[in-house]
Amino acid sequence: MKVIKTIDELRDTIKPLKLQGKDIGFVPTMGYLHKGHCSLIEKATEENDVIVVSIFVNPTQFGPNEDFDKYPRDLERDLEMAKSSGATIIFVPDVQEIYLQNNKTYVEVKDITEKLCGLKRPGHFRGVTTVVTKLFNIVTPDKAYFGQKDAQQAIVIKKMVKDLNINIDIVVCPIIREKDGLAMSSRNVYLNTEERKQATILYKSLMEAKEKIINGERDVKKLSEYIKNRINSEPLANIEYVEIVDSETLANVFNITNEILIALAVRFGKTRLIDNLIMEV
Ligand code: AMP
Repeated sequence: MKVIKTIDELRDTIKPLKLQGKDIGFVPTMGYLHKGHCSLIEKATEENDVIVVSIFVNPTQFGPNEDFDKYPRDLERDLEMAKSSGATIIFVPDVQEIYLQNNKTYVEVKDITEKLCGLKRPGHFRGVTTVVTKLFNIVTPDKAYFGQKDAQQAIVIKKMVKDLNINIDIVVCPIIREKDGLAMSSRNVYLNTEERKQATILYKSLMEAKEKIINGERDVKKLSEYIKNRINSEPLANIEYVEIVDSETLANVFNITNEILIALAVRFGKTRLIDNLIMEV
């Protein structure tokens, strides 16, 4: 496994591999890897010859009062985990390598970025789509792998790739969870013992909503009220949003007829957790 810090070296490494006809799979991450990231790398390994994993905590997707500075980092451990999952190239650029000082260009997807997480995190998705476009242009992969954990992000990236005619297949991989159902996240380390215990209510409430839909409930208002009540039963939970929307357009729905996305964002103390479920009836 090769660890590369500069764009030039990455390009020099990738170019001959592409000329040899190798398929390049790409997994962008912010590091502090866990089994969720590893599942993406493993999937990429099944489908490609060369697996590039980027580790880059992207400043432009954090708001001014968010956790950019204290975002967990552990490069040594990340390199071990990425290697044992099948990564062949790790790209670890500095911020100055990715962002020129007088950068004037951003990539922005409209509408679908203005809902759910986009409402509470203005500029977040512009940061994501800009850095992902840059990384796509640097790595030039055939396929790129994203997690369903960040449901809105996956939808936004797919839309961007379609709208901008970017010739990369976007593969969305299932959410990997802890044994008690909590979706794995680098930010779970912020939770104290009591918050961690109560945080399982996210998955529990999603599963209970799923059960209700299976049993015939179609009323979105009733379902979201039910989920909110369940989450609020945990005293440390502070709901940011509970939304049931069309899984492609993120438009509001009132009755469940098509495929829907149930998306949650809940704070426990200073830690913001997200989770979601896609359901078709
Ligand atoms: P991050 O490092 O948090 O930016 O995540 C990098 C990629 O890993 C994103 O595409 C995430 O959606 C994905 N990811 C994060 N957590 C999980 C998880 N628990 N299961 C599956 N994919 C995940």
